[in-house]
This record gives sequence, structure tokens and C-alpha cells, in this order.
Amino acid sequence: MSILLYNLNVFGEEWEYILIRNGKIEKTGTGNLPDAGKKLNMNNALIYPGFCDAHTHLENVGLMHGTLDLTGKQRDEVLGMVERACETSARVVGRGWDESMWKDAHMLTGEELDAICPQKVVILIREDGHLAVINSRAAEICNVKSENGIIREDALSVCIKKLNLFSTVDLHYAQNYALSKGITCVHDFATLNTFKQYFKMHRRGELKIRVYASFYDDAYKLFRDAGLYSGFGDSFLKIGALKLFADGSIGAGTAATRYANGSTIAPMLDRAHLKEIVNDANAHGIRVFTHAIGDLAIESVIEAYEGTTGNRIEHFEIVRDEFLKDWLSVCAQPNFLKWAKEGGLYHKKLGAESLLINNPYRKMLDSGMNVLFGSDCMPMDPLYGIRLATQSEYPHQRLSVDEAVRAYTLGSRYMASNLGEIKAGYLADLVAVKDDKITMTMVNGKIYNF
Ligand SMILES: [Zn+2]
Repeated sequence: MSILLYNLNVFGEEWEYILIRNGKIEKTGTGNLPDAGKKLNMNNALIYPGFCDAHTHLENVGLMHGTLDLTGKQRDEVLGMVERACETSARVVGRGWDESMWKDAHMLTGEELDAICPQKVVILIREDGHLAVINSRAAEICNVKSENGIIREDALSVCIKKLNLFSTVDLHYAQNYALSKGITCVHDFATLNTFKQYFKMHRRGELKIRVYASFYDDAYKLFRDAGLYSGFGDSFLKIGALKLFADGSIGAGTAATRYANGSTIAPMLDRAHLKEIVNDANAHGIRVFTHAIGDLAIESVIEAYEGTTGNRIEHFEIVRDEFLKDWLSVCAQPNFLKWAKEGGLYHKKLGAESLLINNPYRKMLDSGMNVLFGSDCMPMDPLYGIRLATQSEYPHQRLSVDEAVRAYTLGSRYMASNLGEIKAGYLADLVAVKDDKITMTMVNGKIYNF
């Protein structure tokens, strides 16, 4: 089956048409249109290679299905949604609130939730996934201590388990959501339960996007001892890396750095221990991706990675110049720049100096680092991230559209070497954009319209 896309503009190229056969790009060109089984007039849309979101948590997106999506909502809107949901649902689960964008920039409290929904469980996970606010009923069932309803990191994990929240994760919803944002490939971080679902979807031919599935330390020994290694799988599902955490987030105040109030947070992982895990994993063919946001965390991860290849740092936000090493691979989140403006969250938490050193994509590329972009699902939307990276007012961050798109497509190379570009012989993963909206996403020659 052949498909001809015509009346289009290809990003960075002069092509007037793209001919696709059996899931691959057969030919690109100008002038007379070749014959094809199906001809699609793209109405002058701009065609990009499929976006690869190189840092996702699809289970969080899947969790959003059937729960309250609090992304971009104001405090009173959030409370109104909880109150309404409390009347009709057995429990109230929400995700995506971010107090740093509110006029009244303090966090939600357990008291507020108790006042509007005392009898049912309420848990509202903050956008960064490192913190939640719960009501007294939820605190009772989870058996966790909170600071006026706020729980972080480990206590949050306990609560998610106790409430069995991930049993309702809908990965079909999550992958359709990804497609609607032009995403054809993700580097996902998955729990064992989610791995099980990926394998099942793969077996049934239900995976629509390509998934490079990384795992957490609870699955490490299991995978390692079974002989599984990074890159095992096919172009739709591959075993990814071992994900470690060297610190938390700036929003939750758990990133390892110095704060404007004079306090300093130390990294979560001991350096010698980190080096040991990296060596063991790499010796078994397993890459390590380590979450490191603050400069103190980044420093220790770089030390542990020195002399290795294939490992990566996730986030890499508070960056001193000495961290700009040409051998480093980093997955950064341009959508985090929404917090990096004057008067924003980073300014308040870390002081004005942080505005001049955070997320220096420009410097990172200039120093030869391998830079991938991912959304961390805050929100999952490559066009939004590309806009922030290309329109930043800070020269140390600002990229050209070409560079930003490249960072948001390169990750697909982890799935197959003939992905990430629109070129004859490459797999047909592409995205059509019209008036800043995704109108069509194609994966392996299969069309999804929006
Ligand atoms: Zn993440």
C-alpha cells in the first residue's frame, strides 16, 4: 500500500511530496507527483519528523483519564472541581496543579480539602509528581503523616500504593493523547505493572507509538538477572535504562542545591554507591539515566559517569559552566522554562542568579553535548516546549527552531537508526502542523487524524 502526501512544506527541506510504501518513506521530491494507492492533500501543512518525547511517565497521563485534570487551573477552580467530583465519585483523584502559577502562590492544604469533601478520599498530585495534597480521610487510609495535607516522595509512593491508584491507569488513553500532540515515540519511565501492560499491548499489536521503556531500581535485579539489556526489543518496544534519582524537584524544595532562604539540600545518592550501580549496570549492558536537577546532584552524577558511555542525566537544570562536558548526554525539559522567568518559581526559590544559569541549552549545544528534549508530562506537548526554548529571553537558553526540533526528534534514534528524519529509506514517522495545531500524526505509515 502506498500513500502520497502532497501540497505540503517539509521542515528544513524543499520537498513538495513524500511517497510512503509499507511503512517507509520511499521517495521525496519536487515537480511531477508520482502515482500512489492513496493521495492525501495536506493543505499546505508543515511536516516535521515525528516528535520523540524523551522523558515521559505515560502512566501519569493514563492516570489522568477518569481523574481530574488540574493542569493550568487556578486555586478556586481546583477546589470547585473537587467539590463537584466529591458529590458523584467514590473518591477524588486529581493531577496537575501548580501553585507557583497562582496569584495566591501557596500550596493547597488538607484543611481546604476537608472543608469541601470530608467523607471521601481526596488526593491531588502536584504537576511535578513529587508531591501531593491529601485530605484527612486519605491520610487515615494511607497511614502517612502529612504537613497540613502535603506529602512528598516516599510518603506519596506509599499512598499511591495503598490507594491502588495505578490499577486504573489507561495506557491506551495515554498513547492516543501522545499521538494528538504529534508524539510518535517516547522514552518512558515505567513501573513493573506498566511494563506488563506494554508487553501485552505489544503482543496484541496495540502499541501505536514507539516506547523506549526504562525501569526503576525495584525492577533492576529482575531485569539484570534475566539478561535483559538496554536496546533489547524491536522498533515499537525496547527495554530502556535503569532510572535513578540523585535529587527531587525545585518546586517541592527537594532539588539538591542552595536555596534563596540560605538552606542547602544534599543529593539523595551517595557518590560511591552511585558509581557502583553505574558500573554494575553498564557491565550488564544496561544504561543508567539519573534524575539530577540541582548543581550538587549534577556534580555527583557527572563524577559517577566519568569514563562511561551511554548513560544520561535527566533534567540537568542548575548548571555551572564546569558541567558542560562534550561527552555528556542530557535529556532536558524546555517546558520547565515556564518557571524560569523573572518573578517565577525559580527566582523565588533559588534567587535571581539562578535565572542566568538554569537550563542553558544554548551553551550545552555549543559545548558539544548531546541534548534531547522531553516533556516530563508537564504538560506533554512538544510544540509548547519548542516555543519556550526558541522564544526564551535569555541568550544562554535560546535555541533556533531547527535546533529545538532536532532535540525533540533525535530520541527516536534509540528505537531505530532510520528514524528522526524525513528521508528516503527512513521509517514513516511524521507530523503535520497547521496553524500551530497537530492535524495528523503518522507512525510507521499509519495515519492518525486530529
Ligand atoms: Zn520524570
